[in-house]
Amino acid sequence: MLEIPNINSKDAKFKELVYDVKDSLFKEDNYSKKEFEHLCVCSGGTTSSCAKNGFTTLDLRKNYSKIHFYKESNLVTIGGGVIMGDLINHLQKHNRSFPIGLSKLPGAGYILTGGVSPLSRAYGLAIDNIESIKGFLGNGTFISLKKNQISKEKKLIWEAIKGAAPFFSIITEIGLLTIQSNPIKVIEGFVNLNELSEIIKLSEKFPENISLQWIYAKKIYIYIFAELKNSLEDKRTKAYFLLLEKFSGLEKKFYENFNEINFFPKDLELYELNVNNHSEVISLLGEDLKNDIPIFIKCLNEIMDNKPNNSCYVASQQLGGKTKKLNHGSSFFIHRKSTWKPWIYASWKKNDLQEKALVMDWMYKSWIKLKRFYPHIHLAQLHNHLNSHKEELTLAFGNRIDELKTLKNIFDPQSILPPL
Ligand SMILES: Cc1cc2nc3c(=O)[nH]c(=O)nc-3n(C[C@H](O)[C@H](O)[C@H](O)COP(=O)(O)OP(=O)(O)OC[C@H]3O[C@@H](n4cnc5c(N)ncnc54)[C@H](O)[C@@H]3O)c2cc1C
Repeated sequence: MLEIPNINSKDAKFKELVYDVKDSLFKEDNYSKKEFEHLCVCSGGTTSSCAKNGFTTLDLRKNYSKIHFYKESNLVTIGGGVIMGDLINHLQKHNRSFPIGLSKLPGAGYILTGGVSPLSRAYGLAIDNIESIKGFLGNGTFISLKKNQISKEKKLIWEAIKGAAPFFSIITEIGLLTIQSNPIKVIEGFVNLNELSEIIKLSEKFPENISLQWIYAKKIYIYIFAELKNSLEDKRTKAYFLLLEKFSGLEKKFYENFNEINFFPKDLELYELNVNNHSEVISLLGEDLKNDIPIFIKCLNEIMDNKPNNSCYVASQQLGGKTKKLNHGSSFFIHRKSTWKPWIYASWKKNDLQEKALVMDWMYKSWIKLKRFYPHIHLAQLHNHLNSHKEELTLAFGNRIDELKTLKNIFDPQSILPPL
C-alpha cells in the first residue's frame, strides 16, 4: 500500500511501486527495458493521479527528498519528492520562507503545476520563483536548466516546465528563490452568504500583501491573510482590518511566521483525509467578479443546495497582484489575468458507485454554472482518467496546447507520462 494523503491513490491496485528510484533508472537501456505502458509519479501523493489500478508508480519521496539552503544566495534546492511543509520548516531555520499553498501536504506537484499561495499576490506563483531544474524527459534524457542560461533551443522546454512539466518530464531537483520570513496577521471565522458577498467586494480592492480565501463546506469559513513586511504594510493592513470589524464571526490572529498557520480548522469537518471517502477536485480560474458578485452568490447558493452529500464543498483563493505582473519570460500558466482560483471538491463513499455517479454529475454541473465567472482551468490535478481531461487541457493551456503536444511528441514519444 502507498502511504499517502490521497485515498483514491492509496487504495489503487497498482502494478508496481518503484520506491527506490535512482537516476540510473532513466538510463536509456534500463528505461526502455522496463516497458512501462504508463507511469504515475508520486511526490506529495495528494492527488488521484499518483497511483492507479494496473499502472506503475515512481515514488520520488525516498531518493529525492533533499533540501539544501544556500545562505550566500538565499536560494534553496529541493528534491522532486519534497513536500511543502518540509520545505518551509527547513527555510524557517534560516528565517526564510516560500509561497506554499493552503496546505503543507502537497509535494513538487504544487510547484510544477503553478502553485497559488496566499502570498502569491506579493511574490507571484510558485513557478515564478523557479531558478533551476534537473530531471529526466519522458524519453529518459537528462535535463538541467538554469533560468539565466537558457539557450534558444531549450526556451520552450523551460517555459513548459513552469505549469506543464508532468506531461513530458520527471523533475528530480528544483532550485527556488526564497523570501524573508515575516509576521502574518489573519482575520478568520465563519460568515454567512451576505457577509461573504460584502467581503469579496472589499477583497477585490485589497493591496498585494492581503488575500482572501474562503471555503463553503457545511458553513462558510474565511481567511483574510496579510503579510506584514514593513510599517507601511502594517498601517495599510490595519485600515482594511478596521473595515472587517463589523463581522461578528471573525477573529483576529497574529502569527510569527507563515509556518505557524494551519488553514482549514477541525471544526470545518472536511472530509479530505477521510479514509472512507474517495474524491476528485477541479480547479478553475477567472477575473474579479465586480458587479457580478450578487449573481455569483446566488449561483453558489444553488450549487451548495444541490450537493449530494455533506463532504462536497466549493472554495476559492485569491491571486492577482504579482501573479498578473510576473511572467518571467512566460510560462504555461497562461491565464495571468486571473484573480480568483475557486475549486470544487467532489467526494463520495468509496465503493458506492451510485453515489460516485451522483457526485461527479454535481461536480460537472457546478463547473458549468461557474464557467461564466471562471472560464479557465488551473490544471493542479491531472484528470486523464476522467472524461473532462481534454476540455480541461484546452481551458488550461489555450493556444499553447499545440506547443505542448510538440514537446510531448519529441520528448515523450511513447507517452509514458500523462497523455495530452
Ligand atoms: C489539502 C490541499 C490543499 C491544496 N492547496 C493548494 C493551494 O493553495 N494552491 C495550489 O495551487 N494548489 C493547491 N493544492 C493542489 C496541489 O498543489 C496540486 O494538486 C498538486 O499537483 C499536488 O502535488 P503533489 O506532489 O502533492 O501530488 P502527487 O499526487 O504526488 O502528484 C500529482 C501529479 O503531479 C505530477 N508530479 C508530481 N511531482 C512531480 C515531479 N517531481 N516531476 C514530474 N511530475 C510530477 C505527476 O504527474 C503526479 O501524478 C492543494 C491540494 C491539497 C490536497
